[in-house]
Amino acid sequence: MGRSVAVVGSGPGGMYAVQRVLDECGDCRIDVIERLPSPFGLIRGGVAPDHQTTKNVSRAFEKTLRDPRVRYLGNVAMGHDVSLAELEIIYDAVILAYGAPWDRKLGIPGEDKKNVFGSNAFVGWYNCHPDFKDLDPDLDVAGVAVVGVGNVAVDCARVLAKTPKEMATTDLATYAAARIHAAPIKDIWMFGRRGPAEAAFTNVELRELGKLEDCATLVDQAHLPAAIDSVGMDDKDFRVRSKNLETMRGFTGADAGSKKKRMHIAFFASPVAVLGGERVEGIRMEKTRIEKGRAIGTGETFDVPCGLVITCIGSRAEAIESVPFDEKAGIVRHEQGRVRPGLYAVGWVKRGATGTIGTNRLDSYDVVDLMLKEMAAPDKPGAAALDRLLAARKVRVVGLADWQKIQKLEEANAPKGAPRRKFITPAEMLAALDKASAA
Ligand SMILES: Cc1cc2nc3c(=O)[nH]c(=O)nc-3n(C[C@H](O)[C@H](O)[C@H](O)COP(=O)(O)OP(=O)(O)OC[C@H]3O[C@@H](n4cnc5c(N)ncnc54)[C@H](O)[C@@H]3O)c2cc1C
Repeated sequence: MGRSVAVVGSGPGGMYAVQRVLDECGDCRIDVIERLPSPFGLIRGGVAPDHQTTKNVSRAFEKTLRDPRVRYLGNVAMGHDVSLAELEIIYDAVILAYGAPWDRKLGIPGEDKKNVFGSNAFVGWYNCHPDFKDLDPDLDVAGVAVVGVGNVAVDCARVLAKTPKEMATTDLATYAAARIHAAPIKDIWMFGRRGPAEAAFTNVELRELGKLEDCATLVDQAHLPAAIDSVGMDDKDFRVRSKNLETMRGFTGADAGSKKKRMHIAFFASPVAVLGGERVEGIRMEKTRIEKGRAIGTGETFDVPCGLVITCIGSRAEAIESVPFDEKAGIVRHEQGRVRPGLYAVGWVKRGATGTIGTNRLDSYDVVDLMLKEMAAPDKPGAAALDRLLAARKVRVVGLADWQKIQKLEEANAPKGAPRRKFITPAEMLAALDKASAA
């Protein structure tokens, strides 16, 4: 009998952990338990629809799921269909990889108005995530404020700025495309509390903003330093930030010209209130200055008219059952990934919402190496016990073959030039699967 491992969540954190277990433990059997029928977490529901090459990593993950020592159990939610306590009884080790999808709050007056959304919700809406399909943002607005200057903020701003032609080869939700492309948006503001040197976007994402078909990207020359101060930065960081500065210099001279939309990247400004009555009418920003790397409010404010606010200020994981939780950091409490004997955490539920897909790889590898070192001889029932439990609860498990059929149907339904038309709800996916099986 081999050792049994359950991985909860099939995003990059979980999938890199599976890869490492396969490479380093010949006798391990792995069950990947995923809440949705569709695997790979934010690769499908987070990564921007116009960045299809980034999504290609899912091919490598799918190959991992095809390994005979791995089973994919989609449409099975821990905490609903099976508890963590049960998983810990059934498996020799359990790896939590359930992500950090809950938007952080700004904590300012007016934030609860109707057209204020966190980026997870907004991105989930345009990416067909079933949790956010009913978000219903009102895009009948001239101005949009995006709070944050990281890659997620850039994604939100860019998706709102691109033309139908620019989005034709993407898998943007059809309902979102209809609303975005009919919107009278003229000005998109991106606000950073600190300066250009601290902005977290990568240079590839930033440069893309200079190539938009019908949107001019503008930066105030006065916000740009003469050079990036390298103190306290490693070489890589210094290179990226210097390149970013160079790219932003290219945005200072430009005016909108004949382009319909303008994207303003504004620094040294922190939100203090969302303005308006029932509808959002603007955002009040406080100018900041930087002291020892921190943004300090100056007391001087200015108002920017806008009808939609998207906050891209990070996210947190959910506390579950008996798992110790760090409320401030919004992550599971752990020591080098070990939560308690036999229970480990990887990905964003372990580290918080930082880094790229690739950041999860070495991090998951380290945690799996620790787990394998600590794992005793097999003495748990493993897969068969979970199967019995799920069958008794009449849980409809979506296996890898089922997911591959759903995927083929999505590709077959794609409009010309697009990679796929996504199903949205689990119910839609299961109905399509049944129809295909009956045909
Ligand atoms: C909007 C956005 C865009 C991004 N774009 C890029 C990009 O272009 N390039 C890049 O390198 N990085 C990008 N990232 C970062 C990258 O997506 C993350 O580093 C990565 O997805 C984190 O992996 P994870 O496995 O920890 O979490 P996730 O990807 O969130 O995966 C968690 C999985 O757990 C599942 N789950 C949740 N709860 C349960 C439960 N109770 N039971 C079972 N399963 C459960 C979820 O359904 C999900 O599949 C982006 C992130 C965001 C938010």
